[in-house]
Amino acid sequence: MTGTVTLVGAGPGGRGLLTLAGAEAIAQADAVVYDRLVDGSVLDLLPLHAVRVDVGKESGRHPVPQDQINEILVCLARQGKTVVRLKGGDCYLFGRGGEECEYLRENGVPFRVIPGVTSAFAAPAFAGIPVTHRDCCSSVHIVTAHARAGRALKIDFASLVRLDGTLVFLMGLSALEQVTDGLLTAGIAPDMPAAVIENGARGTQRKVVATIAGLADRVRAAGLRSPALIVVGRVCGLSDTLDWFTSLPLHGKTVVVTRPRGRAGTLAARLRALGAEVTEAPCIETVERTDTRPLADALDQRHDWAVFTSPAGVQAAVHALRALGRDLRALYGMKLAAIGRGTADALADCGLTADLLPRQYDGAHLADALISAMPQGGAALLLRAAQGGRLLPEKLAAAGVRVTDVPLYDTVYRCEKADAIRALLEQGAADVVTFTSASTVEGFVQAVGAAGCAGFTALCIGGQTAQAARRYGMNVKVAANATIEDMIACLLEGV
Ligand code: SAH
Repeated sequence: MTGTVTLVGAGPGGRGLLTLAGAEAIAQADAVVYDRLVDGSVLDLLPLHAVRVDVGKESGRHPVPQDQINEILVCLARQGKTVVRLKGGDCYLFGRGGEECEYLRENGVPFRVIPGVTSAFAAPAFAGIPVTHRDCCSSVHIVTAHARAGRALKIDFASLVRLDGTLVFLMGLSALEQVTDGLLTAGIAPDMPAAVIENGARGTQRKVVATIAGLADRVRAAGLRSPALIVVGRVCGLSDTLDWFTSLPLHGKTVVVTRPRGRAGTLAARLRALGAEVTEAPCIETVERTDTRPLADALDQRHDWAVFTSPAGVQAAVHALRALGRDLRALYGMKLAAIGRGTADALADCGLTADLLPRQYDGAHLADALISAMPQGGAALLLRAAQGGRLLPEKLAAAGVRVTDVPLYDTVYRCEKADAIRALLEQGAADVVTFTSASTVEGFVQAVGAAGCAGFTALCIGGQTAQAARRYGMNVKVAANATIEDMIACLLEGV
């Protein structure tokens, strides 16, 4: 059975501008063939088993030739795979998508096309430039300014100037002077507003707005680099008035989120909404244990409190009970303690209300609160990671509490994005790294090495996490209370 190929436009940057249809297709892919401009946050949506083929062109290195890309697509589909061909922006606009579909059709491979948000419209929008405006123009024209090696541009500048609409040039940065000279020679007003937008619609976006006559010099002086596009037209005059993006509080900040896959979502999404460029680089994974005997044995004994120290522990408890043929009613009669808001929320998702949350969300305060709430000779059942801190059980035991510490899952240090974070750190391009547990600090250090711990702010959720980060000499900021909200508030106070 031949598989299918779905061409998907990945949008111009982070996955917020990916279409829902595109996200669904990616989540179901067995294989993805992607270009250089596709953002890592979009690739994060792939299932873990999916085969990844990078055919991107790093400038300087040779790209995979088009006929080979065509062949790769057919080959993967003939293996019966559900293939996604991911392209930056829209998949047909200057993306050679048409050629690929022709080849698929010739070879009898069924295909679908899911258009994407093109950079030609998104980058101007993020730079405060509406591509049309009734007071300015009645058309917009998208032009490639890419010339074949050594040849002059083949652009009919006279016609473009006559149309008097907004002009968007893609792939034009290296030919910027040729474009501006061509337009000026064709009679465009020298004071016509124009702009170059680098990394449009991304947290790292930069723009230069000037008259068409002064644009090239200004852009060279600012050192703008690819990917960038050129916009020409009176609409560029609105760029300051309609700028909404650069005034977002975290604009220009690059943040690395180290939470495990599946849990990074809310923090990363909220940081992006505040304007940050976010790299999700999970540094730990939780692996649930299949040996449920310790839990079964523990349930045979009487306990006054069931104690949860992470959302992962709640999930693991539900799964372990199910494996035993039981459910959360097995905790009947026990009171429920949660170390913090996130863990209490995970309980709430199961229909359970935590009876106890410590004043401060860490192991020491949890131990104190439990000791005060515990009857004489009471017993606590800890449902948590095998690598959980010693402080909590030791404090409880010292106060005469009988403790049963049941390891439900292991925290494993694994980071698939180690190379990507190392590259960011080497360029000094990471402003902030977020840590939501001491284990994420350990996982990060394992991934990048102890030498990689300088040059950024370590934003930590609580005291123990901060302590772990300080041990590696990191420049630490700690949230006032151990919640994601407080971490964000702490970041907004200025890093
Ligand atoms: N299919 C893509 C365009 C591919 S051509 C789309 O619809 O966006 C590649 C060119 O697109 C780059 O040379 C650059 O001019 C432009 N481009 C792509 N992403 C961009 C971005 N985020 N910011 C500015 N320009 C971008």
